[in-house]
Amino acid sequence: MKYVVTPNGKKLVTLIPGDGVGPEIVESACRLIEAVGAPIEWEVRRAGASVFREGIASGVPDDTIESIKRTRVVLKGPLETPVGYGEKSANVTLRKLFEAFANVRPVRELPSVPTPYRGRNIDLVVVRENIEDLYAAIEYRETPGVTIAHKLISYKGSEKIIRFAFELARAEGRKKVTCATKSNILKLTEGWFQHIFEEVASEYPDIEANHLIIDNCAHQLVKAPEQFEVIVTTNLNGDIVSDLASGLVGGLGFAASGNYGHEVAIFEPVHGTAPKYAGKNVINPTAMILTSVMMLRYIDEFEAAETIEQALIVTLEEGKALTRDVVGDERAVSTTAFTDAIIANLGRRSATWQSRPYQPIRIPAQRPELDPIRPSRRRVVGIDLIIEGTEPPHVLGPNLEHLVGDLPLRLHLISSRGLQVYPDVGTTIDYVDHWRCRFLSRDEEISTATVTALLERVSARYRWSRVQLLHELDGEPGFTRAQGED
Ligand code: NAP
Repeated sequence: MKYVVTPNGKKLVTLIPGDGVGPEIVESACRLIEAVGAPIEWEVRRAGASVFREGIASGVPDDTIESIKRTRVVLKGPLETPVGYGEKSANVTLRKLFEAFANVRPVRELPSVPTPYRGRNIDLVVVRENIEDLYAAIEYRETPGVTIAHKLISYKGSEKIIRFAFELARAEGRKKVTCATKSNILKLTEGWFQHIFEEVASEYPDIEANHLIIDNCAHQLVKAPEQFEVIVTTNLNGDIVSDLASGLVGGLGFAASGNYGHEVAIFEPVHGTAPKYAGKNVINPTAMILTSVMMLRYIDEFEAAETIEQALIVTLEEGKALTRDVVGDERAVSTTAFTDAIIANLGRRSATWQSRPYQPIRIPAQRPELDPIRPSRRRVVGIDLIIEGTEPPHVLGPNLEHLVGDLPLRLHLISSRGLQVYPDVGTTIDYVDHWRCRFLSRDEEISTATVTALLERVSARYRWSRVQLLHELDGEPGFTRAQGED
């Protein structure tokens, strides 16, 4: 069950008004929902600045978490991420706590909103993986001079976000899904995402599937955004291209979003608390209203969603009551007056705005198994050891070869920032204090005893900070080669 219905037929939603302009825009959305008569019972809860001030480091109190677990649907305003106190963003905590793995950002040209793309009929959705990638934020300072972040891409996480994108395309009557990755450079992580995309796409023959390298995707978005329907991508790529795409249709005041999980969905505008406008009754509530429209569709209130969307569009088309970000301070009306105008237009339909044929979206099921990928053969064929640089590679290399001595290993190469520097390939590079030393097995699988022996010998002479086993799975290397390596 995606949502909970009370005995008196109301659908339960946890409502978090949020910080800054949050309460004003949330009020605007709630007034519209009430005016269309959608059967919703709100459970108003807190998160964000006031909670941080109470000393709760997550910014999310227990009774808010308890409410979300029960209602499974959240409509929230923006939350302030405090600087100097509190440890984490309450927004990120909420998304991660409830495994809201799919971030969905619709991007559609709206009437009266000035943009350089006017008339191009932009109507696309960015589907961004929301949990993994560099946003797992697994970072280390490996040597005094080098920091590192792990880019974590799982089969499970990729498969479900890609499947979600195809399901979203079906639910919204869209005919094409574009996968955008950096698979040309990051062959094991982004390349895997592309490979899984191609695998999943074959199960959706009714939907066209194509792949673009992410930089070209950004270029195409600026040049010909109307070619896109659904873009699915990894977390960091998605963060960047979804903001870029929002910019094409008017920016933050219009950008709605939903974060969908297996059991919980969290709907929030893309923008933040806009503190300089807080309490002034001047902020544009459109992003929040469109966000609440997404929520209404999620809880199967399609008619209420459609009525609010049409009334909003008619109000924008009329252009009589618009906020300051659209028409400037002199001609602007207040947040409240803009909302009143939309309420007055409830029941009217735009002559030109065609709503999409929305259907309930099928969220991919959570799979209990830990390891959906089961190789039949695997062995450890090598070791990458990160050694702090105190010697240049032409000195370190022979020393390591000597240290390895009688172990069933050989030093295959040393690389610096991914580029082979030993044996010398004749490149001139600006060394840093971080050597990746790759040892490969002479013949047999590498045992834990061999790893331990290597570490003991190396640590007698050098500082090392990380050991990475090199696996071969079903005959395929589970690691990439260094640049410059033959
Ligand atoms: P912001 O609150 O999004 O505001 C930046 C600027 O965007 C505003 O000054 C305003 O531009 C414009 N803007 C934002 N919302 C608008 C709206 N509804 N209508 C019209 N214009 C709008 O970003 P920020 O100042 O970087 O962040 C402020 C706080 O919000 C921070 O604590 C941040 O961590 C938090 N934040 C929360 C979320 C979230 O809850 N999901 C997201 C982002 C940021 P002009 O100045 O040009 O008028």
